[in-house]
Amino acid sequence: MFTLAIVGRPNVGKSTLFNRLVGKRLALVDDQPGVTRDLREGDARLGDLKFTVIDTAGLENETDDSLPARMRRLTERAVEMADICLFLVDARAGILPDDRVFADILRRKNAHVILAANKAEGNAADAGVYEAYELGLGEPVRLSAEHGEGMADLLQVLMPIADEFTARTEAAEAEAPEIDVEVDDADGTEELPAYRAPSNAKPMQVAVVGRPNAGKSTLINKILGEDRLLTGPEAGITRDAISLKIDWGGTPVRIFDTAGMRKKAKVQEKVEKLSVADGLRAVKFAEVVVVLLDAAIPFEQQDLRIADLAEREGRAVVVAVNKWDAEDNKGEKLKELKEAFERLLPQLRGAPLITVSALTGKGLDRLHAAVLKAHEVWNRRVSTARLNRWLEGMVSAHPPPAPGGRRIRLRYMTQAKTRPPGFVVMCSHPDKLPESYSRYLVNGLRDDFDMPGTPIRLYMRSQA
Ligand code: GDP
Ligand code: GDP
Repeated sequence: MFTLAIVGRPNVGKSTLFNRLVGKRLALVDDQPGVTRDLREGDARLGDLKFTVIDTAGLENETDDSLPARMRRLTERAVEMADICLFLVDARAGILPDDRVFADILRRKNAHVILAANKAEGNAADAGVYEAYELGLGEPVRLSAEHGEGMADLLQVLMPIADEFTARTEAAEAEAPEIDVEVDDADGTEELPAYRAPSNAKPMQVAVVGRPNAGKSTLINKILGEDRLLTGPEAGITRDAISLKIDWGGTPVRIFDTAGMRKKAKVQEKVEKLSVADGLRAVKFAEVVVVLLDAAIPFEQQDLRIADLAEREGRAVVVAVNKWDAEDNKGEKLKELKEAFERLLPQLRGAPLITVSALTGKGLDRLHAAVLKAHEVWNRRVSTARLNRWLEGMVSAHPPPAPGGRRIRLRYMTQAKTRPPGFVVMCSHPDKLPESYSRYLVNGLRDDFDMPGTPIRLYMRSQA
């Protein structure tokens, strides 16, 4: 997670952008003495990027002709707190002397800057957008905070930076001591520790989620029974969720269990509600999410919600159908399940569906293999050379449409991130490219590079 500060002179649209990025998730910073009082902070979400955003707005009423010293001090502080600064100018007003004051502050502080020209909806803003180049801070991202335009472009600029930041953090954290996952019995509103990815030395983080009685406890106990328990259940981990570090068939795994402890709750409805909150937490914790279904009642609403959430959160997903020992007509049932899976969870296309019996242990070796494979493809990197050869083939097999007689050109492609894999395609008119074409590319990537069980993100970017 990185921190982004929105800076710029009053009235350029900082608050408007802040509100758009944060939505309802606004968290006002407490009145801590001194430091953070007048900087608003919130949890932002853009595509599948999550970050903290700091807004330096709110001092408009103090402005006279020159920029008040307080505004500068505030900006300097925000710059110090942030990993990246989003420097906003007003494309309608053009570049004013105060904008140059901000550019100087950012340069002096050696900040990592993204320049954005706001209020850029419509042609009236063109001149201002070009003027913004004069600041010497690179190509401005065209935005309209008010109308929500340009957010995809902003995402594409942020993505590689966020990636680099994550890689640095991970490298630093590989050395750090392990932190136990600690979750209390509340309703799921509390925060998990920031997501930490494993290095080779770290166990793979796996969560088993599913409806009450799907067989989660039985499954985990079976895995534990057959394999060596390394640590856990650990002190400090509360009664509602436990994380266990185990050696699962030779793979160090930290498994997050939201299971059986709920049996004591008296009201069934409460159990359902709690287990959803649990599932959410588990998904956030996990790298690989095992969605455990009960073969007798598969793909219930709750299962679909949690599977969809795992996909949206960008986790690797394996679907396991439990209690397979109790099924009579296995062939017919499997056909039904596959059909239902495709129909009800199209967003998980390609995710493995594994039949298991937690009770007898049958199928657990296949589950193990599927989890490893999903984790591997979730981390997969494809070289740019291979991607571009592939893209050429895809385009000649099935060229993109030519709206209004002008063919959309896909020029170049590269992988911008992993965990899950994300690809950027440089494209002449990204807004005109139909969704179906993106799906064609995503499905092709999945098949041709053998990437089952992981979400794949595709970002179309226009080339200047
Ligand atoms: P701040 O002082 O930088 O926080 O600016 P605000 O977010 O308060 O916005 C200042 C004014 O610009 C408000 O009247 C907004 O409605 C307007 N505004 C913000 N974003 C846009 C935009 O994208 N287009 C247009 N036309 N107006 C905008
Ligand atoms: P949880 O609420 O998801 O943790 O589910 P449990 O592990 O407590 O299992 C719920 C019930 O399903 C228990 O009665 C288990 O014995 C039963 N069960 C779990 N796995 C299997 C299985 O593979 N086959 C059969 N037949 N029953 C199972």
